[in-house]
Order: sequence, then C-alpha cells, then structure tokens
Amino acid sequence: MDIFREMAKRGHEQVIFNYDKASGLKAIIAIHDTTLGPAIGGCRMWPYENSDAALEDALRLSESMTYKAAAAGLDFGGGKTVIIGDPSSGKSEGLFRALGRFVQTLQGRVTLSEDVGTNAEDFVHTAKETPYVVGLPTAYGGSGDTRDVTALGVIIAMRAALAYRFGSPSLSGRTIAVQGLGKVGLRVVRQALSEGASVIVADINPHAVGKAVAELNVEPTDPWAILETPCDIFAPCALGNVVNEETLPRLKCAIIAGSANNQLSDASYASRLRDQNILYAPDFIVNSGGLIQVADELKGYRSDRAHHQVEAIYDTLTAIFTAADEEQLSTLDVAMRIVDERLDLLNRIRRIYRNPS
Ligand code: NAD
Repeated sequence: MDIFREMAKRGHEQVIFNYDKASGLKAIIAIHDTTLGPAIGGCRMWPYENSDAALEDALRLSESMTYKAAAAGLDFGGGKTVIIGDPSSGKSEGLFRALGRFVQTLQGRVTLSEDVGTNAEDFVHTAKETPYVVGLPTAYGGSGDTRDVTALGVIIAMRAALAYRFGSPSLSGRTIAVQGLGKVGLRVVRQALSEGASVIVADINPHAVGKAVAELNVEPTDPWAILETPCDIFAPCALGNVVNEETLPRLKCAIIAGSANNQLSDASYASRLRDQNILYAPDFIVNSGGLIQVADELKGYRSDRAHHQVEAIYDTLTAIFTAADEEQLSTLDVAMRIVDERLDLLNRIRRIYRNPS
C-alpha cells in the first residue's frame, strides 16, 4: 500500500507503527482528523492476514471516528488503534502495557477505548502506563464497558427508522435479523425481544448461536443466510463491509440499523440502498453510543448525561431520513453534510482568539 497516497485520499494526519519485541506487540495507531479536538477511538485486536489489512482497517475505522464524533456533537477527533494478534490467545499484561507506553508518547493526541477483540479489563494494564485510556471498569474509576450504551443507541436508531418507515417506533411484532452475537449484538437481541420483536440470529461462532438459542426465544440461521432473510430490520452487529456487490441484491430488509462500523464496503452503496427502497441508518450515527460514553468519562462520567446524548440519535436520524427524501439524496450524503458543516463551523469559530486556559 502507498501509505501517503492513502492518507491523502482519506485526509489522515498521522499513522504510527508500534513494535515491541519483548511483548510481541504489533500495533498501528491511525489519527484521522483533529479539527474538533484530540483523537479518541477504540483499540481492536484481530488476527489480520498481514500488515496491509491491519493498516487498511485502522485507516477506515479512524476516519469513521471523526464522522461519529462530529455528528454526535462531540469535540473530539477520529483515531483508531489496531493490534495484530489473536484476542483468544495473544493477550498479556506486557502487550497492553507496551501499548500504553507508546500511547503516552503521543501526549494525549489519542485516547484509547475498547473495541472488537478487547475489553475494559485489558486496559487496566494500559492505564498503568498512560492516562489516555477510557472505558475502564467502574472499579478503576472508569465508565465501564461500552456495550450497553452502544446497544441502547442501536435500539433508539431502530425506533427512529421504524417510525419513519412504518409510522410507529414500536419494535413489537417486527422481525429483526441480527448478524453477530457479540458484546453489542447480544444486548440488542435481548432488548428487541423484551420489546416484543421476533429475532433471527447468526454468528460465525456456533457456541454463541447455541447459547442464544438455548437461553432466548430466537431463531438461528447461518451467517450467509441472515443477509437474505426477509425482515423489517437487518442489524449488522459483526464486522464491516456487509453491504457489497455480492450482498446488495440479496438483501430483503426494509431497514438497515446495526452497530458494526463501516457497513458499506463503498460509500456509493448508500444510493443503491435508496434505489432498492432500503432505509439505511448511517452506521456512525447508530453506533455512536459507545463513543458518547467514553467521551463523557473524560469529564467525569455521568450516565444520565451520556444517556441524554444517546437519545438524540432518534432526532438526528429522523432529520437525516426526512432531508434525504426531500432532497433525493442518500442518508449517508445527508449525514456527511452534517459532519462537514460541523467541522467547518468549528474551524471558523476557532479563529476567534481566546485564552487557552
Ligand atoms: P464482539 O467482538 O464482541 O462481537 C462480534 C461478533 O460478531 C462475534 O460474536 C463474532 O463471532 C461475530 N462475527 C464476526 N464475523 C461474523 C460474520 N461474518 N457473521 C456473523 N457473525 C460474525 O464485538 P462488539 O463489541 O459486539 O462489536 C460489534 C460491532 O459493533 C463491531 O463492528 C464494532 O466495531 C461495532 N461497535 C462496537 C461498539 C462497542 O461499544 N462495543 C461501539 C461502536 C461500534
């Protein structure tokens, strides 16, 4: 990969490669845009095939963090860290402390939180080396895992999309297909069931599916079939690139609203979803709950304040759906306009000098 060409294409400021021989840490920190403030974002641990795949993920994910923060009204920039390694076997105190030491060298330009393959407990080690880590367990003074607040945001997004498409926000009687039964997906499933929805689930991990079927009133299907399951809402809660050339013609949902980052393999798919009369709730708005929580932690966490901000996802999405229809644009185009307007606004406001303290 031509790294500078990729950075220029996406607007990245900085990419840092971190290697520690003793712990085996191989991590890439990508900082996309700090117009709004210091970068904040999750740290993913995944057995990437090679460093190009890891870099590509870090670049895409950090870019969407900028959009997520901007659309949620937060004064933070977009960052993401990826660790190349297997989360089921490759974790150690040394690995997460080494990461903390590298993060500390950036003096607050980036703050870490959990993501796929990592959890709040992992960062207890990181926090011994740097204060620039959030989403720590409550016992360590943090706001805890972000899964609950992220899932709450997904449910609120579903209500907004249902209200817009069908005239009622109620999940009762709706069919929801959830792809991925991890930290967020499982909570979305439980909440949707408790609100009276019928839920179909899939995961590449057969144990996760078996457990859900044993404990909950859900219908299992396989990870490929979930994409073509007729449903009111398809909720991607696994990894990205779910909507692509192969899957697009197979989708049979009215709405897409899920927690996964980068659901569209290319931005142009947003218009094609519109052509197929599928209401797409832009991922970086739907899944902003986790970021809202950890950003709040930096001010001294107050769950009522974070929940209040997460509830705003409903109005934000309703405004996006309405504008998209009025202006014949994709929902992603409208969401990106909100992002661009906020970045532009903050750039202009900051021309006014004030004492930094
Ligand atoms: P997780 O690792 O706990 O769960 C992911 C689940 O998806 C796992 O059970 C995995 O087996 C499954 N999976 C992977 N590929 C699959 C496929 N092709 N088909 C079906 N299942 C598959 O992760 P999580 O924290 O629940 O996050 C889920 C998604 O939401 C990720 O894209 C993440 O970036 C995003 N997200 C999470 C948060 C958060 O607070 N945890 C916040 C914002 C966004």
